[in-house]
Amino acid sequence: MTAPRIDIDLDLVAHNTRALVDQLAPKGIRVTGVSKAALGSADVVEAMLRGGATGIGDSRIENVTRLRAARVPAPLTLIRSPMLSQVSRVVRDADTSLNTEAVVLAALSAAAVDQGTTHDVVLMVELGDLREGVAVEDVVDLAQAMSALPGLCLTGLGTNLACRSGVVPDQSKMDDLSRLVEQVEDRVGRPMTIVTGGNSANLDWALATDDVGRIDELRLGEAILLGTEPLHRRALDGLRTDAFTLFAEVIEVKSKPGKSWGDTAQSAFGHVDQPGRPGLVRQAILALGRQDVDPDGLTLALGMAVLGASSDHLVVDVGDHDVTVGQELAFQLDYSALVRAMTSPFVGKVTHRVAPVLATPA
Ligand SMILES: *Cc1c(COP(=O)(O)O)cnc(C)c1O
Repeated sequence: MTAPRIDIDLDLVAHNTRALVDQLAPKGIRVTGVSKAALGSADVVEAMLRGGATGIGDSRIENVTRLRAARVPAPLTLIRSPMLSQVSRVVRDADTSLNTEAVVLAALSAAAVDQGTTHDVVLMVELGDLREGVAVEDVVDLAQAMSALPGLCLTGLGTNLACRSGVVPDQSKMDDLSRLVEQVEDRVGRPMTIVTGGNSANLDWALATDDVGRIDELRLGEAILLGTEPLHRRALDGLRTDAFTLFAEVIEVKSKPGKSWGDTAQSAFGHVDQPGRPGLVRQAILALGRQDVDPDGLTLALGMAVLGASSDHLVVDVGDHDVTVGQELAFQLDYSALVRAMTSPFVGKVTHRVAPVLATPA
């Protein structure tokens, strides 16, 4: 089989989605499955829907277009503000987009009118993480202004925390969002039907709180795919962390000194060589590198450790393991490693499913 490759257990993706959907449903919170870290894979998306996700979000219009073409039976949301240069495609392929800029809304409106359709809009609010979002004091005015634009329908508000600055989505942030929803409803005279509180980093809050306020949706990627929450990278109760496994092939195994020799300067990627250690190290080289994966996000079997990585070589201390040339080693991935591996053209993707395929309506 081709190596390196990432092996995706779709039943575990469905299981994780179901576990989250079941924990959030009693609180009135729906799950939008976020597929960007899986390169918008239609198989992964199908597993998310099988697990009870009510919609799919992706940050790349290319992925949304592919899912649209695969006739995914769920609403598709572009979760990054549309590029001005891509508004017609966004209106054509996404049901909803998350927005922050009046100029983009005007262009989406023109594109929707042009295509004789309506595009749904969620306005994103800046609550302190300093990534995307409209300032709190500007939200109501922007909501009112965009309500006058033909071809657009304001369906809700959202926010995104813990992505750029690690700001924690807590009760006070979520209360701020709920309050804004009510102010917008008062001004535009219509109820908001989507209040999307955040990403996997919101789970600690959502699962613990007894007051979700107006929050009725979360956009979950990492928690579904890797079974972890991003604030402390803890495994979540009842979720599987092994839906994705990376396999790479060994191309050299030798015992080498634990310490390099000769004058040292920078290595290929600027890292200064580790101090090393006395004696010999049984080291394997894998045909895997920074073009395939983020080496800092890899976890190996007990007793093995990553020693270093360049574009195309990963050096591993294999300890007492009996490793031979041609053998494959398996790695678990963190979010950064997963994103890189899924987007690398050098990494094969193999999906497995035992449970029956969800029927797709014609
Ligand atoms: C990536 C992303 C998500 C999903 O984040 P996870 O941490 O993977 O759950 C949600 N919302 C937005 C806007 C995103 O960019």
